[in-house]
Amino acid sequence: MNRIHNFSAGPGVLPIDVLNSTKNAVVDFNNLGMSVMEMSHRSKEIVEVFDVAKSNCLKLMNLDKNDYTVLFLGGGASLQFAMVPYNFLKNESDYINTGEWSRKAIKESKFIGETNVIASSEDSNYNFIPKDYNVNSNSDYLHYTSNNTIFGTRFFEIPDSKNIPLICDMSSDIFSRKLDFSKFDLIYAGAQKNMGPAGATLVVIKNSYLETANETGLSMLLYKTHSKADSMYNTPPVLPVYVIGETLKWIENIGGLEEIENLNNKKSNLLYNAIDSKVGFYKGSVIDKIDRSIMNITWNLPTEELEEKFMKEATKSNLSGLKGHRSIGGIRASIYNACPMESVEALVEFMENFYSNNK
Ligand code: PMP
Repeated sequence: MNRIHNFSAGPGVLPIDVLNSTKNAVVDFNNLGMSVMEMSHRSKEIVEVFDVAKSNCLKLMNLDKNDYTVLFLGGGASLQFAMVPYNFLKNESDYINTGEWSRKAIKESKFIGETNVIASSEDSNYNFIPKDYNVNSNSDYLHYTSNNTIFGTRFFEIPDSKNIPLICDMSSDIFSRKLDFSKFDLIYAGAQKNMGPAGATLVVIKNSYLETANETGLSMLLYKTHSKADSMYNTPPVLPVYVIGETLKWIENIGGLEEIENLNNKKSNLLYNAIDSKVGFYKGSVIDKIDRSIMNITWNLPTEELEEKFMKEATKSNLSGLKGHRSIGGIRASIYNACPMESVEALVEFMENFYSNNK
């Protein structure tokens, strides 16, 4: 099979090895004569799939199972925008607004209680990461989005939450680099960029913080409902969790987060150099280099017509998914963990040729 160079922002590219093991499991799981999709989620085999995915997740994050709980939930990262304040907002909440997804999280929090936007780059169409903010000492948590999928920015440093619980939406850069995950009280991420297909959301919660979550309310929206039932309060997204487990094994096998970070830095540097070397033709959309995402690379060309032409010709060259999000336009290349170096090299070669023919 001829794999396309896939730069889709999400659902995004997955490792071919993972697709192949999934293909087998979809038809005949572990030689059991049935598909992984045809089995009870309470069977010992599927419980084991969940247990292995959870323990691999904690291993990659260097966290202890006595300190953190791993959940796999439905509803996408968007449901977490609501569940976080529903469970933890008692006095007030602090948010850093760095893009469309932060804004959506803030909207849900405002619906539930007092919500402070302590820093924002909205006025400049989110082309930087705010560095100055004062966290309110009375807040139940500080929430931020580690990587802004649409705008191509990321937090290089974990924000200092000044002893307020720290919550992060890592949907578009989870497992892309080494981090001190013990700084977080709650991390969530939709699977469909760096882990698997859409349908499962990973939630990792510090146990001491989980204890403070609301006890009563709508059952499906309480973290405690899901933690008490080991993510099996209702029928969970079994196939996506299977794929997540396979992807985490793949990360481990290629050398863990250290090696993944190394590869991601190489890929993103190659692409940013290609943009920066053509001053006046390609223009990166993020102001400060330190804020540049290593997952979603965004840039513009001198005119919208040239951008259209760029995308049309790119498609013909087997380069797919490069159209920028409708809210900022331009070009966006999403180079998630599973995007091979060869795809980035093919894109850079195309960019060189396009520049020579159109400058
Ligand atoms: N947060 C971020 C950073 C995202 O990129 C996305 C989706 N692109 C979401 C949240 C929303 O995720 P979902 O579609 O799983 O609800």
